[in-house]
Amino acid sequence: MDFEFSEEQQTFAKDVEAFLDAHDDPEVFDVTRENMAQIVDTPERRAFMGKLAKKNWLGITWPTEYGGTEGDGVYEYLLNEQLAGRGGPQIGKGIGIIGKTLIAHGSDKLKAEFLPQILNAEVEFAVGYSEPDAGSDAAAMKLKAEPTTVDGVEGWMLNGQKTWTTSAHFADWYWVGARTNPDAPKWNGITLFLVPMNHENITITGIWTMGDERTNEVFFDDVFVPGDYAVGEIDKGFQYISQALDLERFTMFTYAPIKQRLDVLTEYVQEATRDGEPLIDDEVTRAKMAHLHTEAAVARAIGLKFVAAAVKVEKAHREGATEFQPPTVEASEYKLFTTEYSKRLADASMDLGAPGSQLRVKTAEAPMAGRAESTYRYTVIDTIGGGASEVQRNIIARRGLGLPRNF
Ligand SMILES: Cc1cc2nc3c(=O)[nH]c(=O)nc-3n(C[C@H](O)[C@H](O)[C@H](O)COP(=O)(O)OP(=O)(O)OC[C@H]3O[C@@H](n4cnc5c(N)ncnc54)[C@H](O)[C@@H]3O)c2cc1C
Repeated sequence: MDFEFSEEQQTFAKDVEAFLDAHDDPEVFDVTRENMAQIVDTPERRAFMGKLAKKNWLGITWPTEYGGTEGDGVYEYLLNEQLAGRGGPQIGKGIGIIGKTLIAHGSDKLKAEFLPQILNAEVEFAVGYSEPDAGSDAAAMKLKAEPTTVDGVEGWMLNGQKTWTTSAHFADWYWVGARTNPDAPKWNGITLFLVPMNHENITITGIWTMGDERTNEVFFDDVFVPGDYAVGEIDKGFQYISQALDLERFTMFTYAPIKQRLDVLTEYVQEATRDGEPLIDDEVTRAKMAHLHTEAAVARAIGLKFVAAAVKVEKAHREGATEFQPPTVEASEYKLFTTEYSKRLADASMDLGAPGSQLRVKTAEAPMAGRAESTYRYTVIDTIGGGASEVQRNIIARRGLGLPRNF
């Protein structure tokens, strides 16, 4: 099996690398933000995404009809990995989840309003699926959407609560799922809406994670949404949500930051000493490092297998195929393995860095400048967000191995 990228793909990756070198800026790129580096939450980061837009790198897989270049998804993967490896903002949410869903299912009005803004990096979204009683089982969401008319405009009145909405405190629009049909089976009664995040009846409160980054609770108190801001068909929202998640997991959980953390640890082990002896001469350390490098190679291979499957399906989807099987099992295998591996790598970094690894991130004199400490705290989050490890195991067991359903 050939794991290398084609010459053309490698040339593209080099172009991206050169562009990022030329635009290197600590206000934009910060690896210590770990996986949360992907959000576009500051003016500097927004401005940088605008530069990517000008390079025509945001609509790589979008149809030309909507301003894209109809390229292969592998280029999107290569771009995103380069951004992620430097702790830069990434393209998953607007271009991927929201843009691609709108292209596939949105009305002409929503396409005309949002697609150009997404392509020009002029709009940021928050994604609201999870609720206090609907996380792993997102289809259990209860945020109520009732049909109503306000000032002669037909629409929906939204009431209830979301939680864990990352980006709500700076986003412009909320991509939110709500229950429009309480009588249908739970996954058939949900509709997706686009709601301005600054709506006066929306209240946002922060939740600070152990990884230092902020996520949010969002409360809806009589939030009226005009009917034409419902996405696609009423009650079909959960199908759209699932489809987008399967295709986007490789943009949400990139491989490059894992490799970057492994490089930091490897460099440390090569230079550090214990009891006057080079750490690298210690047999246990060598075995551990060999194991970590082997597992990293496995993570990369599983990632490429998933990317290949996702790219194929994405292409078929774009070309109008209606019957296709999203790479759900591959997505779960990749998410499960890489995020659990990230925790093992962080554990190893704490162990090998010895007591000094407890010093706070960005402490210059700490082993690995404190990176062990920040990844140790942060990597736990990745095994929960985007679908917890147990849920990924359930998917692999049931859909991949054909084992009986247990939930
Ligand atoms: C930092 C962060 C950012 C997030 N950002 C967003 C966001 O922007 N938008 C959004 O919508 N959501 C977001 N989430 C929510 C995330 O998707 C949920 O936290 C996740 O799906 C788990 O749901 P839960 O927290 O309700 O845990 P629960 O579903 O209550 O799970 C609790 C535990 O039970 C286990 N479990 C649950 N069901 C089963 C089962 N059937 N079999 C075996 N074990 C099971 C889980 O694996 C977990 O260990 C974010 C979460 C975090 C931590």
